[in-house]
Amino acid sequence: MDIFKAMAQRGHEQVIFNFDHTTGLRAIIAIHDTTLGPALGGCRLFPYGSEDAAIEDVLRLSEGMTYKAAAAGIDFGGGQAVILEDPAAKPSAELFRAFGRYVETLQGRYITGEDVGTGEGDLVQISKETGYLIGLPKAYGGSGDTGDMTAQGVIAAIRASLSHRFGSASLKGRRLAIQGLGKVGYQLARRAAQEGAYVIAADINPHVVGKAAAEINIEPADPWTILETACDVLAPCALGNVVNRGSIDKLACQIIAGSANNQLEDPSMGNALRDRQILYAPDFMTNAGGLIQGATEIHGYNDERARRQVENIYQLLGDVFRRADETGLSTVDVAMAMVEERIDLLHSIRRIFSPDHPKTAQ
Ligand code: NAD
Repeated sequence: MDIFKAMAQRGHEQVIFNFDHTTGLRAIIAIHDTTLGPALGGCRLFPYGSEDAAIEDVLRLSEGMTYKAAAAGIDFGGGQAVILEDPAAKPSAELFRAFGRYVETLQGRYITGEDVGTGEGDLVQISKETGYLIGLPKAYGGSGDTGDMTAQGVIAAIRASLSHRFGSASLKGRRLAIQGLGKVGYQLARRAAQEGAYVIAADINPHVVGKAAAEINIEPADPWTILETACDVLAPCALGNVVNRGSIDKLACQIIAGSANNQLEDPSMGNALRDRQILYAPDFMTNAGGLIQGATEIHGYNDERARRQVENIYQLLGDVFRRADETGLSTVDVAMAMVEERIDLLHSIRRIFSPDHPKTAQ
């Protein structure tokens, strides 16, 4: 793989390869863009089929984090780490500590966290070697699970969407179909039912459906057809790639607003949704609650401050929808353009010389 070419194509600043002889750690840290602040992004542990696949993933994910942070209105850049998992050996606690040492060497240029394949226990190991991380359990001074904060943001996105489509932001009496009743989906179902929505929900795990149905007023549904449910709002809260060339014609919703990352097969699906008159709340804005919670830890966690910031998702999406109507562009294209504008604006502000901030005008 031509790494410099790939970095140039996506606009990356730095890629760091980390190897530890003792623990066998093979980790790659990618820093995409630090215009807004230090690069923030999780650490993924995955049995990649090749080094190229790992590099491709870390470049893609770190770029995505730049957009996500900028969209959330938090002053962080985009970063990501991947650890190449050895399928023959369970990763040791020391492997995560070795990773923490390497994160520490960057002195805050990159801040790590949990991602696919890593969990709270791994973060605790990493935290023994570096303070540049977010998402520790409450018992270790972190803010704990982000499921409810993310669900609060999804509710704000649903309200903005309802207001734009129907002229009222109220969930009362609205049919909401949720795919996935995990950490976010469960909290979303609970909050929506509390607000008077008629909640239809599905999960491939029957235990979580049974538990949710016992606790919340929901109608359990078939996980294989939930995307085709006739409803006001479809909330994908399980997997990515739910809006694709195979599913687009079967969707029977007015609005899509959920927490799953990368809901569209590709950005052109944004146009397909617009043509079908389905209002799409871009995922990287809708699901920013967890990121906002994590980022709030950096300056000393305050739940009220984080929740207030999450409520801004309502206003943000309202702006996206209005601009999409005015320009005829898809909501995805508008959201991307708004994020790029924010980065450019702050880039130009940071050209102002400050003796304390050695980032000087070019
Ligand atoms: P989770 O693993 O707790 O829950 C996912 C649930 O989806 C599980 O219960 C699983 O059984 C179910 N599921 C998987 N495939 C399914 C299918 N085909 N149909 C129906 N159900 C299915 O994950 P989570 O933390 O709730 O996150 C949900 C989504 O939101 C993920 O895509 C995640 O990347 C994204 N997200 C989460 C957060 C957060 O704060 N947790 C933040 C941003 C984005």
